[in-house]
Amino acid sequence: MPRYHYTCGKCGDATLLVQPMSKRRPQRKRCPKCGGMASRDVAADFAGRDKSKAKWPLKSWALGVHPDQIPDAVAQAKAKGVDMSFAPTGQAIFKSPKHRREYCQKVAVGTIDRDAGYSDPS
Ligand SMILES: [Zn+2]
Repeated sequence: MPRYHYTCGKCGDATLLVQPMSKRRPQRKRCPKCGGMASRDVAADFAGRDKSKAKWPLKSWALGVHPDQIPDAVAQAKAKGVDMSFAPTGQAIFKSPKHRREYCQKVAVGTIDRDAGYSDPS
């Protein structure tokens, strides 16, 4: 359910209203603390909202290798100028979207790693 933030004009207290989308969201509401009028704080609604689902460093099965191939894959990446590491399970470990892009362009040529639905705004 959406969370709507309000800031009281009288005491400055911040309150949160959580209600279904189907219900009308009031622009102003009573402050539960002092009874003054609190108005919408739209900036607070958006603050702290995670823009990307991906967490970095990111482990990728899509660009992973068999565990036996890790030393070769590291050497191959290094030869192309990309510092690469893999998890013991063989997953490729990317430090950042830039790192992953670099690996896709220089080493795993022709691949686009979307990692099970994750993608980067390029
Ligand atoms: Zn108040």
